[in-house]
Amino acid sequence: MFTLPPLPYAESALEPVISANTLRFHHGKHHKAYVDKLNELVKGTELESAPLEKIITDTAGKADKALLFNNAAQTWNHTFYWNCLKADAGGKPTGRIAQMIESDLGGYDTFKKDFAQACVTQFGSGWGWLAVEGGKLKIVKTANAEVPFTQGRKPLLTIDVWEHAYYLDYQNRRPDYVNAVIDKLLNWSFAESNLAGA
Ligand code: MN
Repeated sequence: MFTLPPLPYAESALEPVISANTLRFHHGKHHKAYVDKLNELVKGTELESAPLEKIITDTAGKADKALLFNNAAQTWNHTFYWNCLKADAGGKPTGRIAQMIESDLGGYDTFKKDFAQACVTQFGSGWGWLAVEGGKLKIVKTANAEVPFTQGRKPLLTIDVWEHAYYLDYQNRRPDYVNAVIDKLLNWSFAESNLAGA
């Protein structure tokens, strides 16, 4: 059985950028629904005791497994996303990741513009990502539940751009949500830990 992991901070910890109300629904209702549906779908199948990542990679791109893929990937994506956010964080990183942003993405200002652009231009539901591919940083966006690691890209950070992630706080203003997360919440130490071994 998969369980809904607790948020790594209090529901109010990310205010005012993301309200406790948004986190209560996003974690307690949306994320929980993906976990519950995942458990329902794997029960009694050969994937019942498989690791989450294996369920995702085994079902990716298979039309007859789309429902299982979507719920497994959304379970994984949300756990990852909670860890990408942290109070009093965001802004320009330091260390190895800062050097890679400089060499691979043209510096922090260009990264910020391009990452925000990827998040804002993902048409409909999806995710914006900072990932590593072939040893280099790359900005990618994915639709719906899709994850970069099924395409050989290791995720470092993500921003959820499904409307449920921001609508209660920002309504249709996705760019305001995205820029506020980049400036104030991105957890660069989590990104750095994901870089280890990439
Ligand atoms: Mn979400």
